[in-house]
Amino acid sequence: MMKKKYDLTGKTALVTGGSRGIGQAIALALAEAGADIALNYRSRENEAAQVRLKVESCGRRCTAVQADVSVAADVSRMIKSVEETLGVVSILVNNAGIASRRSIEELTEKDWDETMAVNLKSVFLVTQAVLPAMRSKKWGRIINMSSVATQLGGIIGPHYTASKAGILGLTHAYASQLAGEGITVNAVAPGLIETEMIAGNRHTQPARIPVGRLGSPQEVAEVVVMLARNGFITGQTININGGLYMS
Ligand code: NAP
Repeated sequence: MMKKKYDLTGKTALVTGGSRGIGQAIALALAEAGADIALNYRSRENEAAQVRLKVESCGRRCTAVQADVSVAADVSRMIKSVEETLGVVSILVNNAGIASRRSIEELTEKDWDETMAVNLKSVFLVTQAVLPAMRSKKWGRIINMSSVATQLGGIIGPHYTASKAGILGLTHAYASQLAGEGITVNAVAPGLIETEMIAGNRHTQPARIPVGRLGSPQEVAEVVVMLARNGFITGQTININGGLYMS
């Protein structure tokens, strides 16, 4: 009885930015937990195709859909394509993001607008697109990728930190309004996870992390799977940062 309740078999999960890094690990972990996977990517078609093969080798169905999640028309096309191929989305992981490092002096309006659109507006657009189906089924899980930057200021710049803090506001707004409808909405706040995003950033200093190393994408993914299974955690931020920030 308990097993059935926590089983993700037959559910469709959409992972934005699933072609590499943390998103790839989340897609694979959700597939191992039983979900069919819709993988979104922006430009790395070959990498997305590799992840699709790995998901399929777990015995799950998978589709990879190109879309810029900061563009409403792309998001509508993506959701239509996913619904036609795999059915409605029950688990949404808003993971896609960019991190262009800028000093206070370098930061331009263009940087600000682009970062807000890709990291924050996208969460609103994709959530808005999947919510009608979740509400009609009275079951849904939305997991948004924030960052330890919201707590510590971060190593990318004010634009990035503000976009990730905005995600916490969206998470709380949706969580409080949807709690009575079987839909949970949570944020995950990783810190210094070994991916391309932080590679080469000279401010990435593992020695400053209390556990003494960078985190792995899999360590984030297992928390996302836990949130996808759990129906009583909502409106929370789960910190995965090796003790860099203690809440
Ligand atoms: P990554 O390795 O740079 O991967 C970024 C992913 O996002 C790629 O799949 C990329 O697609 C996709 N993407 C970027 N812009 C997009 C757009 N406009 N539309 C659709 N997809 C887009 O990054 P990561 O380190 O895995 O980070 C994943 C998430 O975790 C991000 O939101 C990031 O801010 C957050 N995060 C990361 C860390 C860290 O230490 N790594 C810490 C805290 C939070 P393509 O492959 O097609 O380019």
